[in-house]
Amino acid sequence: DVLIIGAGGAGLASAIFACENGFKVRVITKEYPTRSQTSMAQGGINAPFGNIEHDDVEAHIKNTLKSANKMADDECVSYMCEHAKEAVEWLDSIGVCFSRTLDGKIAQRTLGGASAPRACYAQDYTGLKILHTLYDRCNALGIEILNERFLLDLIVTDNTVKGASFLNIRNSKVENYSASNVILATGGYSGIYHNFTTNSNATTGDGIAIAMRAGAIVSDMEFVQFHPTALKNSSILISESARGAGGYLLNSKGERFVDELLPRDKVARAIDSEIKAGEDIFLDIRHLGESFIDEELPQERKLAKLYENIDPVYDLIPIKPVAHYTMGGIDVDKNSQTNIKNLFAVGECANQKVHGANRLGGNSLLELIVFAKNISNNLSKNLKPQEIKPQEYNFFKIQKITKDFYHAKANIGSLFYQNVGIVRDAKHLQIALEEIEKFMGQVPNMGITDLSQIYNKNLIEFLEFKNSLELSRVVVLSAIKREESRGGHYRSDFQEESQEIKHTFVKDGVVL
Ligand code: FAD
Repeated sequence: DVLIIGAGGAGLASAIFACENGFKVRVITKEYPTRSQTSMAQGGINAPFGNIEHDDVEAHIKNTLKSANKMADDECVSYMCEHAKEAVEWLDSIGVCFSRTLDGKIAQRTLGGASAPRACYAQDYTGLKILHTLYDRCNALGIEILNERFLLDLIVTDNTVKGASFLNIRNSKVENYSASNVILATGGYSGIYHNFTTNSNATTGDGIAIAMRAGAIVSDMEFVQFHPTALKNSSILISESARGAGGYLLNSKGERFVDELLPRDKVARAIDSEIKAGEDIFLDIRHLGESFIDEELPQERKLAKLYENIDPVYDLIPIKPVAHYTMGGIDVDKNSQTNIKNLFAVGECANQKVHGANRLGGNSLLELIVFAKNISNNLSKNLKPQEIKPQEYNFFKIQKITKDFYHAKANIGSLFYQNVGIVRDAKHLQIALEEIEKFMGQVPNMGITDLSQIYNKNLIEFLEFKNSLELSRVVVLSAIKREESRGGHYRSDFQEESQEIKHTFVKDGVVL
């Protein structure tokens, strides 16, 4: 009945809720579920329990809307915040080992832009614990999960999704699956900022590019969130919970220069302007003490030791802001339905309009659970088996390769960080567009050099590269179109927020 593509938090939660609602479910994913990017989430998942200080749903809604800079949908935000406690209680009930207060309640911490400690957490391994628990639950329910299958295309006729084609990574054979309902849960597109992102290499926005090719509308692709504190050399995240616990940001003179708990767009811009003025920037958590760090932030300490060769108990942590989360995605209505019949999208690949121009920390994990559950009430039941007409593929034709796509991928990462980054303007966006179009023109001269059929990583990375390239053009075109500054999209040539509130829609590669 239901084909779910992607096995991160959004995909696995969708599978559980659909299965519990009586649907036959199959999940297909390019990696192993437990390696999905959700495993990297550290800080927490928001729910206004008020376990530490007074908090309520209204405050959660208010903080989310403020951070979104008028680009969120009020109804979707209210729905998400009203269902937040239920979502976390459900995770708790299926076994997520949340950290606890001394009196046994779920512990909560403060993240940027929140008026109270609202993020429920499992040390700084929150995403990992959630993902693994969801996976256990899927296994307990007997849900079929096919790993190492790369989504190639959706099969759509008469604007209705009928199934999807995949490349089996183990043997390079194409497999086609029909389904009455398809849910895309394939994650975001921060991977475009290759080497300048906290995201995993697999976050190449495949599902969004593929949905776009199938006729889906995508929206607000210019809104990319830059996280203020990634390790300077590796771009690996140091969680906002370090600042929530009282960590400071310092410049080379040892001065604090910004309120560390402002929303991420503001903190990232403050850091960016210090760096452009020649400063090095550091996160200082030394005053929190070793026992607190080891209890509450053990992963941050390990990451800093491993990737930056410093120990945050004694040393300043050198940081820089990098691309972290993509607010844009496949455009969906309040029921997560796309403009293609029976095709849904959920999680970071979707634009559910709960984050607007700038996501509030802790709201992404929440979105996954709340909207995955909602989708299960909107799936079509008792449809007849679908007849599908898949296309033919030939990945191994011999061709002359004169351009190296790996080189292009690395170039695009730094091109985007420089020109489509924290501060943008027409001139630099135009430079980025021309470069991207040049790379697009070179694609016929790019290709794979490894022609083996077994676990051909070269082929998968080429397919990912082409998806990212398509999306990068859409991101730049959308950023050019938005002549204002709002949330994560800051234009030095249009510094004011416009009175008019407009989403940016793209269909068939054209900004509408
Ligand atoms: P993912 O977890 O990215 O899963 C995508 C799935 O799709 C994967 O299984 C992948 O294999 C599959 N897939 C992709 N392409 C294909 C293809 N072509 N074919 C088949 N399968 C495919 N949010 C919070 O709320 N709180 C936090 O504390 C927090 N911390 C974070 C820390 C880090 C370092 C990062 C990077 C993000 C953090 N976030 C946090 C954001 C949050 O983790 C993500 O937005 C969320 O987990 C995305 O979940 P998802 O299920 O939509 O996508």
